[in-house]
Amino acid sequence: MKIKQNLHIHSQHSCDSACATLADIQKEMLSCGMSEFGISDHLHTHYNLCDIQGARNDFLCAERPASFHFGIEVSSVSKWECDQIAAGNYERKGDDPVYGLRFVDGPANSPAQIGITAEEIKELGIEYVIAGVHWPLYSKADREHAWEDYFNQMLAMVKNPLVTILAHPWDSVEHAAGGWFQSRDVKDIDYGAIAEVPQEYNDKLMNALLEYDKAAEINLGVLNSLRLPEVCRKKYWTMLAQWREAGVKFTFGTDQHAAHNNPAVLAASELLLDFYGFEDENIKYLFN
Ligand SMILES: [Zn+2]
Ligand SMILES: [Zn+2]
Repeated sequence: MKIKQNLHIHSQHSCDSACATLADIQKEMLSCGMSEFGISDHLHTHYNLCDIQGARNDFLCAERPASFHFGIEVSSVSKWECDQIAAGNYERKGDDPVYGLRFVDGPANSPAQIGITAEEIKELGIEYVIAGVHWPLYSKADREHAWEDYFNQMLAMVKNPLVTILAHPWDSVEHAAGGWFQSRDVKDIDYGAIAEVPQEYNDKLMNALLEYDKAAEINLGVLNSLRLPEVCRKKYWTMLAQWREAGVKFTFGTDQHAAHNNPAVLAASELLLDFYGFEDENIKYLFN
């Protein structure tokens, strides 16, 4: 199948290493035949709101086709860290508070939420919200706790009425399960935590996506990631195919952080989509 949508692209306004200009994004997405595409820069907590305001100003100034949209990628964050950051009650440590508060041990029982309000989404002209789990919320670093933590966060994102798309399901659970967030050492990445995600969690997520009518993301960056063992990529594709059989709809995103789109990733993904039985009718087009 032909990929005609790319809703997950980071521009140079994203707080991480993203560096693409809007002009290049537009030129490259039109040249590969996207019928709808959009930028989705990161917002973790209110601390990053200025980045989204910058992206919005740039977007409004650009001459652009109707197929170019303005979205956002929000992280699941804990209410506790949002409150701490809003009150200025934190220490600048590691890269805290850019990615919320990751270098302190917060309470594990604070609810997962997103760092932007309905009013701000409206004011900024945000047309869709991709929500991703990017880290554990202060749970213990082992598989059982990481799975439970990520599952609960994903469920909170799916249930959140402001969220349109669940980003890259389970991505980074391998870092949580192995203790990477504590040590920041690559030896503490447990790839088996992806390969062995219990079916029960995936069934519950599938049912929640259907119940709340949310799209799951086919994240082409994660699914083509060379750092993942093949067994993990297969696990992801198998899970997505199971969800599709139950009627879940999907959106595409390359999750581009680099200066330029990589057309080879799209070409390889189209072959994999055919192999796993995906068709255009499984895709949720938001705008056409
Ligand atoms: Zn993400
Ligand atoms: Zn992203």
